Amino acid sequence: LANKKFHPEPSVIKVGNTSIGGDEFIIMSGPCAVESREQLLETARAIKKAGAQILRGGAYKPRTSPYAFQGLEEEGLKFMKEAREETGLAVVCEVTSLAAIEAAVKYVDMLQIGARNMQNFYLLKEAGKTGLPVLLKRGLSATIDEWLNASEYIIAEGNPNVVLCERGIRTFETATRNTLDISAVPVIKEKSHLPIIVDPSHATGVRKYVKPLAKCAVAVGADGLMIEAHPNPAIALSDGPQSLTFPQLNELCSELRPLAELM
Ligand code: PEP
Ligand code: MN
Repeated sequence: LANKKFHPEPSVIKVGNTSIGGDEFIIMSGPCAVESREQLLETARAIKKAGAQILRGGAYKPRTSPYAFQGLEEEGLKFMKEAREETGLAVVCEVTSLAAIEAAVKYVDMLQIGARNMQNFYLLKEAGKTGLPVLLKRGLSATIDEWLNASEYIIAEGNPNVVLCERGIRTFETATRNTLDISAVPVIKEKSHLPIIVDPSHATGVRKYVKPLAKCAVAVGADGLMIEAHPNPAIALSDGPQSLTFPQLNELCSELRPLAELM
């Protein structure tokens, strides 16, 4: 169902009052984790001012270490909803369990399935059943076909609202946290009608590499970007080293705008 053979036209997925896959190049930005009401609202206002359309923020964090900050859970979702009401931005949050899905549907416009859960077929089916748009990140070591098969689990539940997110894959290279597989964008465009966005933040893990790869995502034909941003990355509870400051996000968005118009 994700195959272009069954749906030759590119899909446009409505998320809140914006869409992904249409003429507009979209920017999804926000903190890795929702840490407090103030941190989230301040970030929401800043990303809106920079020109982003969608606020991201994790309330359920699938951390590599069980001792790391795990997220504010439903309290964090409430702050996401408040940020959406104040700014009009659409909001997306990762879900890691059925309980998280049941909570998130009350507060957010889009559910995110993270890299670590890309082949959690039970979770994919449950996300599919909600009918909400689903942002499906590529698994750490998933091939493009495995990723598209994961999207089928959502679509097969009668929910065609899937957006793919390339966030880097595991390779032998250690200079960056993952290796951004930029070729995934034209390959997905060839095989599927689903929109695809690029996440240079998780792909590199390094703030200074985010901008060059974001530009590359525009040039290669992606439908948008996910960029982590934080009011003070030095004290972020997760992914500080890859998070942009607000001035850096502003600079990035203003450099991307003319590029996106050229495409
Ligand atoms: C995230 O988007 O915060 C995240 C955990 O990303 P990924 O699943 O790509 O590692
Ligand atoms: Mn993160």
